[in-house]
Amino acid sequence: MRLSRYFLPVLKENPAEAQIVSHRLMLRAGMIKQQAAGIYSWLPLGFRVLKRIEQIVHEEQQRAGHIPVLMPTVQPADLWQESGRYNAYGPEMLRIKDRHERDMLYGPTNEEMITDIFRAHVSSYKNLPLTLYHIQWKFRDEVRPRFGVMRGREFLMKDGYNFDIDKPSALHAYNRHMVSYLRTYERMGLTAIPMRADSGPIGGDDTHEFLVLASTGESEVFYDDRVTALKLGQRDINYEDRDQVAAVCKEFTTLYARTDETHDETAFGEVPEEHRKVGRGIEVGQIFYFGTKYSEPMGATVQTADGAQVPVEMGSHGIGVSRLLGAIIEASHDDKGIIWPEGVTPFHCGIVNLKQGDAEADAACEQLYTALTQAGLEPLYDDTTERAGGKFATMDLIGLPWRITVGPRGLKNGVVELTSRRTGESEEMAPEAAVRKVV
Ligand code: ATP
Ligand code: MG
Ligand code: MG
Ligand code: MG
Repeated sequence: MRLSRYFLPVLKENPAEAQIVSHRLMLRAGMIKQQAAGIYSWLPLGFRVLKRIEQIVHEEQQRAGHIPVLMPTVQPADLWQESGRYNAYGPEMLRIKDRHERDMLYGPTNEEMITDIFRAHVSSYKNLPLTLYHIQWKFRDEVRPRFGVMRGREFLMKDGYNFDIDKPSALHAYNRHMVSYLRTYERMGLTAIPMRADSGPIGGDDTHEFLVLASTGESEVFYDDRVTALKLGQRDINYEDRDQVAAVCKEFTTLYARTDETHDETAFGEVPEEHRKVGRGIEVGQIFYFGTKYSEPMGATVQTADGAQVPVEMGSHGIGVSRLLGAIIEASHDDKGIIWPEGVTPFHCGIVNLKQGDAEADAACEQLYTALTQAGLEPLYDDTTERAGGKFATMDLIGLPWRITVGPRGLKNGVVELTSRRTGESEEMAPEAAVRKVV
């Protein structure tokens, strides 16, 4: 992408309405624009990151054997009357009437609708196990929408639903989600700790939230700090293998890690003092096992191998896709701007031309652009006539992992400058060497 033809409306000043760094940086880097409280347009740079996050979520869900679908944002109220949640959900639900005075709503979550799909098409144990998920916009009329996309009213969520014949199978699905989530967050450069949580209005017995530690997080967390060193890494996971998956879950949930909702002072007291930590965290996902809470009232039953009819066992599992942008920035920035982890960066490498219009500099930039593109990367070439200082400030603000700086003086010696956004270190080298290092 050439910056002269792109749409990157960066702000020079700090927007007054932003209270936390991620919101400030997303506005300054021209990633989002607020349209109403908690409702945002996604501008090109923000949209690119959102799509990269979605892509990682899709890949890891499908790796775990889960199947993508797409349900609508607007739902009929009757389904929620069947489950008993229409009245229980309260003012967070955006209720709408259509022209025929039918009660509709903008979905805050999809347990009812997915159960309706299931009961219409599945009636035998032979079709199980089954996990369906989608990535779709949700609406919750939050009392206090704030912190930009972290607590929006309209927000993008991945929500997945498992259907199983019995409780052990449903718990395997729960564990499968936990492991796939660990990998998902790691690929985004995040440490998200599974913490035992409270089930709230979704209901159920087993539930974990995934929290990214950050001083601006809205949840209070209590944990054994050795939990932050656990990494899934490149391990080969066979998601069908119940024992292997359960063992990974055990590894990641044995050390004390809880939110204030389930915090237990006595158990926390047993953590060695030097490892006992109290802090704050951002909830970036949650998994639930709730058994037959929806299948029973909604009549989603299946026939077992010996001919009995039983309500299907279920769970639901969410990832805050749009909130993740804020969480990643909270975890990865400095005073100059964002520092994107490689896994989600909007562009892989910036090219800064110090003397636009200089035939040699322009040609060298074009060559770099082509070489990076041919290597499968997406460069952002600042081909504008802005001053060098302004170009650097924009690159630092938008946080691409690498910057290649090209100027007539360096080119006389056959070199360009390669700078790492994370370390700030710069090195001079031949253009081809810079390309090799970025790729
Ligand atoms: P919170 O406690 O932050 O209100 P929640 O527990 O109500 O979140 P869930 O029902 O567990 O949310 O939804 C799954 C995920 O969707 C959450 O873990 C979070 O990452 C994300 N999410 C929930 N509400 C919002 C929101 N208002 N804006 C952005 N993301 C959200
Ligand atoms: Mg909530
Ligand atoms: Mg919560
Ligand atoms: Mg939650």
